[in-house]
Amino acid sequence: MTTGLPGSRIAIFGVFVLGAVALPAQAASPLNPPLPPARPAGIDPPEEQGKYHAEDQINEPAGEPSRRPPKEAAPAPESQEVVTPTISSACSGFLTSGQVEARRAVAPPPRPGCGIDEPVTISAIIRPDGRKISVAASGVMRCALAKEFATWAAGDFSTILETDSRKIETIVTGSSYECRPRNRVAGAKLSEHAKGNALDIRGVKFSGGAHALVGDKASPVPEALFASACKTFATVLGPGSDSYHEDHMHIDLAPRRPGSHYCRWQMP
Ligand SMILES: [Zn+2]
Repeated sequence: MTTGLPGSRIAIFGVFVLGAVALPAQAASPLNPPLPPARPAGIDPPEEQGKYHAEDQINEPAGEPSRRPPKEAAPAPESQEVVTPTISSACSGFLTSGQVEARRAVAPPPRPGCGIDEPVTISAIIRPDGRKISVAASGVMRCALAKEFATWAAGDFSTILETDSRKIETIVTGSSYECRPRNRVAGAKLSEHAKGNALDIRGVKFSGGAHALVGDKASPVPEALFASACKTFATVLGPGSDSYHEDHMHIDLAPRRPGSHYCRWQMP
C-alpha cells in the first residue's frame, strides 16, 4: 500500500533527500587503483535490452579510431590503451568498500556532449549480511550513480522484493551509458544516459528461477519499488510514463533543485 501515490497514477515527488547524490567534481584527488578490463562478464541481456544495446557498444572495442593509444608509440596492452580518468577518494572508497564488486572503467570514446565523470562498472551488490546479488549486463556509469544504485539495491530494493523464501539472485539492468538524445528522438535534449548518469532496470531473477520484471503482466515488480526509487533518484520513469518505458524502470541523477524528484509511472 503506497498511500503517498494518489490513485496509483502519476506521482511527482518533492522529497528532500537528494543532497548526497552528487560527488563534487572539485573534491577529486587523483588516485590510481589498478585498471580493470574494459567490460565485465555478464549474463546475456534479456530481449528488452537488445534494442538498448546497440548504442551500448560504445563500451566495446569496435575498432573505432578513438580507441587507439594517445600517441603512436609501442602497442599498448589490450584494454589499457585508452586513458582512464583519475577518480575521487569518495569513488575509490566506494569501490573498495566491500559493498559492491565494481571497477573503474575505461572512458568511452569522446563524442560531442557525451562523457562520464569517474566511469565504473558494477557486477554485484554485497548486502549487509554478506549475500551477493549479481548485477547483469551493467554497462559503464558514473561512480556517483553506481554508489547510489548499490546502496538502494542492498537496502529498500531487496527489502521490497525479497521474502524469507525468495531471495534475489540477479538484478537485470538495461542501458547505462549511451551517447544519445532522450528516448532516441533526433533533436531532443541529450539524455542523462549520455553522461553515464542514468540506468535502466528491467527487474530481478530470484534463486530458484522465478523473476519479477517491469511491465511483465504475470510477474511485475511491485509499485512500492517505484515509490522507493523516487525517494532516492532525481528521475524515475516506468510503464505509463510514455511509450519508451513500458518494460523497464529508468532512474537517473539529473541535476534538479534540492529535494526535487520527477517520477512518473502507472501500474496496470
Ligand atoms: Zn533510461
